Amino acid sequence: MEFIIQASYFIAAVLFIYGLKKMSSPVTARKGIVWAGVGMVLATVVTYFHPAIYGVEKYVLITIGIGIGGYVAWITGKKVAMTDMPQMVALYNGMGGGAAAAIAAVELIGQREMSQSVQLLAVIGGLIGTVAFSGSLIAYAKLQGIMRGTIRFPKQQLVNAAIFGLTVLLGLMIAFGGSEYSMLTLTVFFVLALAFGVMMTVPIGGADMPVVISLFNALTGLAVGFEGYVLENPAMMIAGVVVGSAGTLLTQLMAKAMNRPISNVLFSNFGEVTGEAQAVSGSMKEIEAADVGVMMAFADKVVIVPGYGMAVAQAQHKMWELVKQLQDRDVTVKFAIHPVAGRMPGHMNVLLAEAGVPYDIIYDLDEINEEFATTDVALIVGANDVVNPAARTDPNSPIYGMPILNADYAKNVVVIKRGKGTGFSGIENHLFFADNTRMLYGDAQQATSDLIANIKEI
Ligand code: NDP
Repeated sequence: MEFIIQASYFIAAVLFIYGLKKMSSPVTARKGIVWAGVGMVLATVVTYFHPAIYGVEKYVLITIGIGIGGYVAWITGKKVAMTDMPQMVALYNGMGGGAAAAIAAVELIGQREMSQSVQLLAVIGGLIGTVAFSGSLIAYAKLQGIMRGTIRFPKQQLVNAAIFGLTVLLGLMIAFGGSEYSMLTLTVFFVLALAFGVMMTVPIGGADMPVVISLFNALTGLAVGFEGYVLENPAMMIAGVVVGSAGTLLTQLMAKAMNRPISNVLFSNFGEVTGEAQAVSGSMKEIEAADVGVMMAFADKVVIVPGYGMAVAQAQHKMWELVKQLQDRDVTVKFAIHPVAGRMPGHMNVLLAEAGVPYDIIYDLDEINEEFATTDVALIVGANDVVNPAARTDPNSPIYGMPILNADYAKNVVVIKRGKGTGFSGIENHLFFADNTRMLYGDAQQATSDLIANIKEI
């Protein structure tokens, strides 16, 4: 039996890795999720036969836990809007960290015989999991709008360092204390770790939250990996390490996309500025759909920059219809995707794939940025921060230093948005006031339909 259980855990781990591999392309991502899910079901079912958990009482408790968790995840997963996905990820990720921390707590409270190294790993996993748990809950509350703004006070980093230092000290006392540590030490250790997760997340705000969520995701993976070692469970070990490393890579990629070293996430107040942001000059100039239609129909090259507003309006299908119409008129059309456009990494790619847009006309920031100078019309659809030139020009802007799509270099810029609403970071966009920019006001789906109708008549 032991062999079958261990072999099943190994197969589950292989399925996780296979699933992850498939998830690296939008074409196969859906299949990847299914394969990873099959691995998870296998790992869960086989655990019922593990010798450590024989007993009706335990079976009942596990089944109730799976039932409640599965039901809540099923309902919320079905209901969640694509645009609310980051907070959903933050919440589920936090639960993973919490589960790893709970395993550590149970193992340490039980004070069972553990080797020195296993006891140390239980403590490290407990610390990381707890921080990921409370930090992710704060990230969820911020993105869900339950908690607004950032909390900053003088000497904040010093206070955080003190809390962290004390937590590590208690952790070392537990890890190297054999079975001598008291319940009080253990409780204070977990409470301080919870507090540290909260304290390190509350000063972080706005456009930097995705990096933080990804970082907590990596931490959760590591915590699960460590606790897998404690429980001698290969599926947990491998899955944890895979999530930890994938999360770390994603965090690095996102930090690079926003031009912030990861150390800033932990040790400085992200996006903090001391001076006044540059005031905007000029005015926003409105344009009618009929005029934009003519502009695009007679253009050589059009580059479309989709953003969060396209996702809200679900305008991707209409957008693809518009592209086909332009291609029929021999206009070269390309999509320019900023790595943090929308509300989660790959958000725009997923939407465009869903609408059937071929991948060979979708370009990343690095591939397309040079091309704006030779673009006749840059059509911005519900994007804002990712095309804000203040990131290039205003050192006092909270997004200063973030690489942006240089849409302002195009000959003509047309912006589809509903009104004067700001983007995620809440700041004015100088691009909207530029001489070569025209505003096409309206919901992205409606405005795109109007463009299609107008171009048809040309
Ligand atoms: P922004 O959030 O900067 O701007 C979106 C714009 O869309 C708004 O200005 C809004 O203006 C407009 N809009 C909203 N609804 C509609 C609609 N129905 N039709 C047309 N327009 C609409 O989006 P970007 O994609 O440019 O930037 C993403 C931002 O989100 C960045 O700051 C990024 O850091 C942050 N972020 C990214 C994450 C990621 O991983 N991708 C995760 C979390 C945050 P108006 O109200 O006037 O219509």
